[in-house]
Amino acid sequence: MNNIKFEELGVSEPILRAVTDMGFEEATPIQAQAITAIKTGRDVIGQSQTGTGKTAAFGIPCLEMIDPDDKKLQAIILCPTRELAIQVSEEFRKLLKYKENIKVLPIYGGQPIDRQIMALKKGIQVVIGTPGRVMDHMRRHTLKMKNIKIAVLDEADEMLDMGFRDDIETILTETPIERQTLMFSATLSKEILDLSRRFLRDPEFIKIVRKELTVPSIEQIYYDVKEKTKIEALSRIIDIQNPNLAIVFCNTKKRVDDVVETLQGRGYFAEGLHGDLKQVQRDKVMQKFRNGTTEILVATDVAARGLDIDDVDIVINFDVPQDEEYYVHRIGRTGRAGKTGKAFTFCVGKEIYKLRDIQRYTKTKIVQQRIPTLSDIEEAKTNNFIEKLKTVIEEGHLTKYVNIVESLVEQDIATMDIAAALLKINLSDENGDSIDFFDENDEESTKSYLERDENMARLFFNIGKKDNVRAKDFVGAIAGECGIPGKVIGSIDLFNEYTFVDVPKELVKDVIKGMKDCKIKGKKVNIEIAKKHKK
Ligand code: ADP
Ligand code: MG
Repeated sequence: MNNIKFEELGVSEPILRAVTDMGFEEATPIQAQAITAIKTGRDVIGQSQTGTGKTAAFGIPCLEMIDPDDKKLQAIILCPTRELAIQVSEEFRKLLKYKENIKVLPIYGGQPIDRQIMALKKGIQVVIGTPGRVMDHMRRHTLKMKNIKIAVLDEADEMLDMGFRDDIETILTETPIERQTLMFSATLSKEILDLSRRFLRDPEFIKIVRKELTVPSIEQIYYDVKEKTKIEALSRIIDIQNPNLAIVFCNTKKRVDDVVETLQGRGYFAEGLHGDLKQVQRDKVMQKFRNGTTEILVATDVAARGLDIDDVDIVINFDVPQDEEYYVHRIGRTGRAGKTGKAFTFCVGKEIYKLRDIQRYTKTKIVQQRIPTLSDIEEAKTNNFIEKLKTVIEEGHLTKYVNIVESLVEQDIATMDIAAALLKINLSDENGDSIDFFDENDEESTKSYLERDENMARLFFNIGKKDNVRAKDFVGAIAGECGIPGKVIGSIDLFNEYTFVDVPKELVKDVIKGMKDCKIKGKKVNIEIAKKHKK
């Protein structure tokens, strides 16, 4: 958008109010330029893509020119089809919500002509019609063209494609030569230019090219995933990237809720943002995100619009965006202010074509990578830890600890062993028992994950939604009581009366033993190995 308000275009008070009611916040580029040009009285040829608001671009200045006290026909808009004529006249009526005494009428084939004739007799100032029916009324002298001040050819390319050229020429020839003539179209052809040379005087050309989108120079990666493996892939990316702030984009509100629920269940600090939230709730979520309480924001495109947040380390497109522009907006959330950022996109099956379109449109490269395996994550964690270690050594102030090491050495313990043991303590509790759920590169393993990993067992818990427990309560309790890392816990299916929790087979005994006599949310739990595997 070009951030031009309708006020700045000199639009009159009643139309401004109507435009606000219509929900337009600012003028589209074609509107900004066309309104300005048309007001100078010049003929205009306006070209811009479908959906860019061409109707109001000519509609607003056209309606401003109508003299409400003059009951004669002052403007004619030609449209290719009956649907478009109705659509344009509806948009005009909305624009006229606070302007009385201006009458607009659509006329098109298929509607009884008598009714149109009766309506025309009531003093219509603006007619929006298809060329055929307009000609019909001209022949019957039920449309008088002598007082026309402005003529508009809307969707001119389509009208010419439909063979209306002769009709258009006849109609325009009947209107006063001093009229102002406007032509709007999504494309410009030689035919349109020929027509304009005959009927437009020194027209101003307004051409809005599809905005060149500046794509931030950030690393863009995509993963070929299955719908069912998205959550696991998401967790792994977050684990390996270890971002301070990440935004996950989903295409629908429901998806946002689902992803937030699952991430929370897995122990991540995630919050969702979508259109159903009240302003107060939104503010709360944003505050938590800004002060770092929440590390992962899951949002829809609309909810994220206008959010002013810097310092986002990574953006993850949980779903491929429907629109190329969305992609650019989404990934633009990271890599701001010269910082490096990364964008990850999950791509399922045929969505690869959509991704190719995005690459073509944005002229960037999105490279494929394989989903990190658990050993990649382990390696990344080790590397992070060693980096931290080096920094601490560089910073010094270690005398106190050196003394402890010295006393150990005096007891004949080798420094190498001391260091190794410390590393073990620091690194093992997080990934000591890690089990790879699936490896995207290994067909067999992916398949077995999708069919529920054979390494996983289902546990039945005798508490459920009715006890006010949430997935994360299970993760917390199992991880806490049994000393196993929360992220090896698999899917958690909450039902009203009971809950199924997947845990790695080799930990089943530990979990059952660890949870013996334990309470979750004050409820004593009873656990059994579930009999049937859910598919
Ligand atoms: P075009 O003729 O260029 O294909 P339309 O005039 O039919 O586009 O407008 C497409 C849609 O955009 C309509 O629903 C219209 O109400 C809406 N629209 C037009 N101008 C604006 C604006 N400034 N802000 C938001 N929406 C707009
Ligand atoms: Mg249009």
